[in-house]
Amino acid sequence: MNLRGIGMTSERTRKRLIERLFEKGIRDPRVLECFNRVPRHIFVDEALGHKAYEDTAVPIGYAQTLSQPYIVARMTELVLSARHHERVLEIGTGSGFQTAVLCQVVEEVFSVERIAPLQQKARERLRHLKVYNARLKLDDGFLGWPDEGPFDVIIGTAAPEFPPEELINQLIPDGGRLILPLGGDVQHLTIIEREGDDIHTQQIEPVRFVPMLSGVQREL
Ligand code: SAH
Repeated sequence: MNLRGIGMTSERTRKRLIERLFEKGIRDPRVLECFNRVPRHIFVDEALGHKAYEDTAVPIGYAQTLSQPYIVARMTELVLSARHHERVLEIGTGSGFQTAVLCQVVEEVFSVERIAPLQQKARERLRHLKVYNARLKLDDGFLGWPDEGPFDVIIGTAAPEFPPEELINQLIPDGGRLILPLGGDVQHLTIIEREGDDIHTQQIEPVRFVPMLSGVQREL
C-alpha cells in the first residue's frame, strides 16, 4: 500500500475516526487497522477531502455515496465472522473504498459496479494504492459473477427490495453468507446464510443505502 502524501493532519483525524468506531462498538482489531491503512481521502473528491475522516457518508457523484465508515466497518466485521471468508464478491464498487478495505483482510475480492465512470475511477485508485487482490467488473450486480462463483461471502453496498436469488445461488453451500441492506423506504442490514438447501436470515440493524438498480450505465 502506498502511503506517500499523507500528512500529520490526516493521521490524527484518522486516529480520531478509529476511536469513534471503537466507541460505536467496532472491536475487531483487524477491521480497525484497515482505517489506518486505507486512506479514505483518496476515495472522495478533493473538495470533500475534509469530510473523509468524519463518520459520515460522502457523495461520489452519479447520485451515489461512499458509505459511512461505521457501516463499512460493521459490514467488514460481518465478513470476517463468516465461517469462510477467503473469496468475497462485492456488489457496488462505488468509490472502491469498501473494496480496498476488504482487500486488507481477505484473500481475493471480486467487485461488480454498474456505472462505468465510477468503476474506472475506483480502478485507478486501487492501482494507485497498490491494491492488487481485487478484480473489478462492469455489470449488473443482480447477476453476481457466475464465472467466478461460488463465493464464501457476498456483500451488497446498495439495497434491493428482496434478496436476489442469483446471489444466494452463488454462495458456497457450507456457511456461505450474503450481507446486504434489504428494503425500500425502510431498510435493514441483513445476513442471509446458506446451510445446504437451508437459508437463515438475520436482521442486524436499520440502515439507509442507495437502491440496487438493474442494468449497466456506460456513459455520463
Ligand atoms: N461500496 C461503495 C458504496 C457505493 S454506493 C463505496 O465504498 O464507495 C453503492 C454503489 O452500488 C453505487 O456505486 C451504485 O452504482 C452501485 N450499484 C447499484 N446497483 C447495482 C447493481 N445492480 N450492480 C452493480 N452495482 C450497483
